[in-house]
Amino acid sequence: MSGLHRCIVMAPMHNEQSNVEAFVRRLAGTAADGWELVVVDDGSSDETVDRLTECAAKVNSEQLAIRLVTLSRNFGHQRAIIAGLEVALRRAEETEIDRIAVIDADLQDRPEHLQELLDACASVDVAYAVRASRGESLLFRITAGAFYRVLAHWARSPVPANAGTFSVMNTRAAEAILNNVDENVFFPGLRSWIGFNQTAVPLDRDGRADGNSRVGLKGLIRLAVGALFGYSKLPLRLMVLISAGSLLLSLIAVITMTVLKLAGLVAVEGIALVVVLLFFNLSVLAIFLTILAYMVGRNPSPVQARGLYVIGSERCLN
Ligand code: UDP
Ligand code: MG
Repeated sequence: MSGLHRCIVMAPMHNEQSNVEAFVRRLAGTAADGWELVVVDDGSSDETVDRLTECAAKVNSEQLAIRLVTLSRNFGHQRAIIAGLEVALRRAEETEIDRIAVIDADLQDRPEHLQELLDACASVDVAYAVRASRGESLLFRITAGAFYRVLAHWARSPVPANAGTFSVMNTRAAEAILNNVDENVFFPGLRSWIGFNQTAVPLDRDGRADGNSRVGLKGLIRLAVGALFGYSKLPLRLMVLISAGSLLLSLIAVITMTVLKLAGLVAVEGIALVVVLLFFNLSVLAIFLTILAYMVGRNPSPVQARGLYVIGSERCLN
């Protein structure tokens, strides 16, 4: 069946001027007739758009039509994906193409693997790549592995380990994702959360073709914390564990002090008792408040609710 599926491929780009040409070339090399590429330019400050426009002009639009969506500024990888999905879904309806692929533009995901994902997606709603090997550093692999294990263990809905953004889905899956985005976007978590029939495809993953991670360490940490709070029970469990432990300790301290005082072994001042009680109870409260504040803060209030991104323009490049 390879090569027969038509597909809309969506790729977010932020400062990918050095990768965009190779990306388009490799994608055009693997695309069957009637494919479409939707690039989301996520506020690039380099020549990504110019390079893309140049190389798009050389691509046969019958085979691979290229469409550029620019966001009004940099909104970040996860939001760029959602913005791109919105446009891809609309294009899918306009072109009657039923498959949407999401792929990074730095060539960590191999465009040549799209056929494999499309084949796997033929009988299910979502086919997503799980990284068979990672082209990243050992330290990154260890921390990412630990993160996915924690998340897989604690997630409210199963978030598959080592599944990134690279995936193919049908329009009902894309629609379900778009109908359920919250401010704290974590695309792999959300994609798994929607349910339907999903299948994992183990695929090798390369190192970034050129440049450094555009998401960066800070972005990754923010994403990991967001995913833990948005998709796992870990913070709640920790809250219960720590406050229960704290309470137990304070109880033991109070009892010990009372016994010591009654037995006349040590002259425990009443004030000491009060201090111990205060200390432990305040620590319990503090933990409670921090976590609650964090969780409440992550839910957009209806008053503050804003969109997740702003699309600046959209045009056809070939
Ligand atoms: N990206 C984006 N906006 C950003 C950061 C990254 O659209 O603010 C794009 C980037 O161009 C790439 C993909 O998202 O196509 C993944 O980014 P990156 O490779 O930096 O992430 P990593 O692989 O390090 O997680
Ligand atoms: Mg990357």
